Amino acid sequence: MPRLGVLGWPVAHSRSPAMHNAALAALGMEGWRYQRLPVPPALFAETTRALGQSGFLGANVTIPHKQAALALAAHASPAAREIGAANTLTFAGDGTIAAENTDAPGLIAALSTLTDMPAHPRALVLGAGGSARAAVWALREAGASEVSVWNRTFERAEALATDLGVLAVREPRAADLLVNCTSVGLHVGDGIERSATEAEALNQLGLTFDQVGEYSYVVDLVYRSGSTPLLAAARAHGARTVDGLEVLVAQGALSFELWTGRPAPLEVMRGAARGRDTAPG
Ligand code: NAP
Repeated sequence: MPRLGVLGWPVAHSRSPAMHNAALAALGMEGWRYQRLPVPPALFAETTRALGQSGFLGANVTIPHKQAALALAAHASPAAREIGAANTLTFAGDGTIAAENTDAPGLIAALSTLTDMPAHPRALVLGAGGSARAAVWALREAGASEVSVWNRTFERAEALATDLGVLAVREPRAADLLVNCTSVGLHVGDGIERSATEAEALNQLGLTFDQVGEYSYVVDLVYRSGSTPLLAAARAHGARTVDGLEVLVAQGALSFELWTGRPAPLEVMRGAARGRDTAPG
């Protein structure tokens, strides 16, 4: 039985199993199964190396393992290597691991829903982890006229900016497009604390409610039931927004196509990610 999964710690909040299992069912791929793989950092390398021999064809990788996933792979795509993080692993029969990054093209695909956005926007990325690296790389490749990066720990923003040839800033600066790649706003019951108030969450992003109004287009990679504090503030200011589920669907569709060689059923995946019943027929 071909198996797929998502490696993370925590991973209970992930919508990937619902999304991928719905896609497999819609394409009649009986016997395939996609599951959560909760693995703490100390066990990541040993567990992931064993997956190929346990019937796994591939796995998505989420917090906090994306950089470790790249380090483990024998082969990595140029994008994954330049980004320095991988969110998609493929296991070959001989036990070797190949790494790809679909977060970057997934973000660009999700941005295409912002039809009136300038072709070469000024962009500010919040965060300096694996997804921030993918977002910065993607925006740079997609022709953003300026990409700057802000992070709670400035030194990490500086290191990312040096690696990827963009600008690290000590305070969030005005831009056309704001992309949140921190985990602020994530709401799950297994170890990540919920922000007490919207103002507090914005504060963790270095922003006030009024400052959010400086961005016409706002993307939040974080997803949860209901709006995130950032998207709620952005919508209150009339900004056009893309939520984390749309980005999840876009990156997941690319991973699905890589593993299965089949076109991803996007509407089915979107419906399942959003918790809607989209059973065909
Ligand atoms: P990561 O590598 O662990 O990075 C986490 C980032 O969040 C770091 O920049 C960290 O700052 C910052 N951060 C954490 N807690 C913070 C706080 N209380 N205040 C301010 N900053 C804080 O994680 P990642 O893989 O980049 O993922 C980040 C988020 O994006 C996660 O919630 C993940 O689920 C989400 N994501 C969603 C998608 C999607 O498809 N929708 C794709 C990728 C990621 P420091 O450096 O200062 O610690």
